[in-house]
Amino acid sequence: MQKDPANRIQDYLVFGEFGGVNAAIEDSSTFTFLSSERMQEIFQHEIKGCYLYSRHTNPTNESLAKALALLEGTEACKVTSSGMAAIFCTIAQLCGSGDEILSNRTIYGGTYALFKNFLPKFGIYVNFTDFTNLEQIKLKITAKTKVLYFETLSNPLLEVADIREIRKIADENNLIIVVDNTFTPMIISPKKLGADIVVNSLTKYINGASDCIAGAICAGKDFIMQLSDVNSGASMLVGPVLDPLRAASIMKNMHTLHIRMQQHSKNAMFLAENIEKLGISVHYPGLPSHPQHELFAKMLNPGYGYGGMITINILDAEKASELLVMMQKEMVGYFAVSLGFYKTLFSSPGKSTSSEIPKELQDEMGMSEGLIRFSVGLDNDMGRTFERIKKCMNKLKII
Ligand code: PLP
Repeated sequence: MQKDPANRIQDYLVFGEFGGVNAAIEDSSTFTFLSSERMQEIFQHEIKGCYLYSRHTNPTNESLAKALALLEGTEACKVTSSGMAAIFCTIAQLCGSGDEILSNRTIYGGTYALFKNFLPKFGIYVNFTDFTNLEQIKLKITAKTKVLYFETLSNPLLEVADIREIRKIADENNLIIVVDNTFTPMIISPKKLGADIVVNSLTKYINGASDCIAGAICAGKDFIMQLSDVNSGASMLVGPVLDPLRAASIMKNMHTLHIRMQQHSKNAMFLAENIEKLGISVHYPGLPSHPQHELFAKMLNPGYGYGGMITINILDAEKASELLVMMQKEMVGYFAVSLGFYKTLFSSPGKSTSSEIPKELQDEMGMSEGLIRFSVGLDNDMGRTFERIKKCMNKLKII
């Protein structure tokens, strides 16, 4: 296998039905059979190249899944209708009543709510700890722990977990590692570093156009087969299927992912360095001031930078709110949640994407109300964007 994820995707040639340069779109929910024996056979076990019903699997979705497996360096992949569906199906497949998950405490708010409020209904309990502290992870593992769950780069504080070291802990305790790589596709390959299963929200960088919601589970062949099992597969039975029309458009966008990640990273580094010089506290793994800067440098695939996400701390929460509105007026980008878009997006995590996390826990994590998260866009002239941000900060007397 090629070492570089972009090269692996480059070498993946999919032909359309009539030799087209893009994958054919199989716009069908169900598939025809010529014999009842064959239909029965397919119900009993998946047969390559044969299709039954698109909730089970669909050829266009499989083409996208193959590209994603190449991106993450896993044997196989299952695409889903959202990132949350990818997370839920993974956990529902791995865990049952009585099992526990140990999760990083700084994770996307939706995942936090799923873990804290929803999974207990099924008898699955989640403990949270600080995954930058290996000793804390070891201390929090119980006899019931089955899964270690974290994000490569945590949302929104951009903390970095040491996947290689966490692998050692998982091996000592017979645990499965699930990593959400939504913030760092192409930059970090969690599987190569020791993760068992990699989940992604394709909604973000991988698609990059903010025009759809989609997700993926990248893992070994056995696990992906289990997800589609007609009797016991979480994806087959819960049914969060990605529309094949969307799968085809996401796949086209994936071919520019390497260039986009380079530009997001270049622009984010420029912005992080320059905002830090204004005396504002900046979290960005590319800055030497980031506590896990060196660790991130040791984990990354060279050539794609440190990612496009930056968090800054405007100590005054009111001014932070005003800044968000003003930056949109001054055409820095959009005041909107989500990330990985070609335009810069900014929001206040405490009041939006992390609002599901209780205030006391937000305080404990260091997530203040003055925090602003940027998903830095593909701007051609980042100097101009920075000047616009500076102008807003000056007007609000933040600097
Ligand atoms: N994982 C992370 C890190 C996210 O930031 C998000 C959404 O913001 C998700 C998962 C959920 O993805 P989706 O909105 O595609 O369901």
